[in-house]
Amino acid sequence: MADKEKISRQPMPEQEPKVRAKNFKEVPLGYPPETAIIEATRCLNCKKPGCVDGCPVGIDIPGFISKVKEKDFAGGIARIKETNALPAVCGRVCPQEAQCEAGCVLGKKGEPVAIGRLERFLADFERDQGDVPLPNIPAKTGKRVAVVGSGPSGLTVAGDLILKGHDVTVFEAFHKPGGVLLYGIPEFRLPKQILFAEINYMERLGVKFEVNSVVGKVVTLQELKDEGFDAIYVAVGAGLPHFLGVPGENLIGIYSANEYLTRSNLMKAYLFPEYDTPLAVGKNVAVIGAGNVAMDSARTALRMGAEKVRIVYRRSRDEMPARSEEIHHAEEEGVELHLLTNPLKFIGDDQGRVTGMQCIQQELGEPDASGRRSPKAKPGTEFEFPCDMAVIAVGAGANPLLTSTTPELSLNKRGYIIADPETGKTSMPGVWAGGDIVTGMATVIKAMGAGRAAANSMHKYLTWGW
Ligand code: FAD
Ligand code: SF4
Repeated sequence: MADKEKISRQPMPEQEPKVRAKNFKEVPLGYPPETAIIEATRCLNCKKPGCVDGCPVGIDIPGFISKVKEKDFAGGIARIKETNALPAVCGRVCPQEAQCEAGCVLGKKGEPVAIGRLERFLADFERDQGDVPLPNIPAKTGKRVAVVGSGPSGLTVAGDLILKGHDVTVFEAFHKPGGVLLYGIPEFRLPKQILFAEINYMERLGVKFEVNSVVGKVVTLQELKDEGFDAIYVAVGAGLPHFLGVPGENLIGIYSANEYLTRSNLMKAYLFPEYDTPLAVGKNVAVIGAGNVAMDSARTALRMGAEKVRIVYRRSRDEMPARSEEIHHAEEEGVELHLLTNPLKFIGDDQGRVTGMQCIQQELGEPDASGRRSPKAKPGTEFEFPCDMAVIAVGAGANPLLTSTTPELSLNKRGYIIADPETGKTSMPGVWAGGDIVTGMATVIKAMGAGRAAANSMHKYLTWGW
């Protein structure tokens, strides 16, 4: 044990900040095998592993790390896949520092085992071997399942239920599946090829994808039932952008983060004119908000060619909701943080284009309902903040496209679907729900955990009844 403790957490190679701030290629480059093995030897293989308690899908973390130590990489990825269908995605975007790594015993005195990096290493190793072999698929049950929404929650349900022998069709509003993994998280954090490989694997398993299908508009849930679907899982996400509600917010040059990132990621605006979706290139960009979405927008703006990109946030660094790694990467690339600053209004020129914001300085008071100290304006501290483009990244709400046409689904007062936390069952018989449309925007792994719970419940229903 003493020797193991002498080995420090292995860093992961990454692109130089100045170089990567000008391209959309992935920032961290992944562990080579020898580094992964050294990192794996740090793990103490605890009898009561705190890391597993912190994982929303309960991956056998010491089990897969032992396989890395033994150089049995195929065995390691198989162990992860017993509970996680998207390891290449989770190894990249999960907030490990707040989940598995937060529970790692080594973190009490020093640095936790780099669990996420090892997960990513195994998933990438498997993909590099070529087509992943298919597991045995049981005989068809004759039951049909519809999944609405192809984000991580819907994909988890599809992957789990196809392996139980049910027939699964995923309906997706956009022209490509993937949800936020495709249209939200940028290429430099999650290369699309990785997501496409996961979706291709599901297609090989037999999952059908119906894209350009806005359920609730093109077809209702009742019509899907009438068409013969025996069970339906709703995972339509929380993609309705929130705005600040201040004067001038509709000036030219002001985007919601949702539109900005969708244009860049899904429509590949960063490859314009090769792809025909344009995206404004601000020289002096303000991004309002401090979560992952804000960091992704700021770093995208840099890569699109902005000279100056500033995050404007009304609280302090301690309250920033983004992953610490994202904040660190953004600052390394040159994104500036303007904390304790709140926009009061946007200012425009006579062409209706944004030229700046009027802001006011803030100070922190007592903690609010979220446990974070609430910001208060400091009277008399108004100042002008120049910018020629702004991206609003202050959160998102329930996507109403489906729920507004499905009165049978009970919603809470914020418009999210009410579902049993253990099973995902909704008020509509034969319909389950999970992911961000139930919890509000959370994390990829939590959306997957909800999918896993619902898939178990749906399988029981398809086998024995409601
Ligand atoms: P989504 O991923 O939102 O997928 C919902 C899907 O349903 C979408 O494809 C949508 O087009 C489709 N849909 C909507 N309405 C309909 C309809 N009526 N008919 C058919 N289809 C419909 N989490 C992390 O863990 N780590 C991160 O680093 C991270 N970064 C993020 C960065 C950004 C920019 C964003 C926006 C979110 C980020 N998150 C991150 C949060 C995470 O992505 C979400 O919590 C997760 O994707 C939720 O999964 P979901 O399956 O519930 O919904
Ligand atoms: Fe290994 Fe840390 Fe988990 Fe213990 S808590 S099994 S040291 S990863």
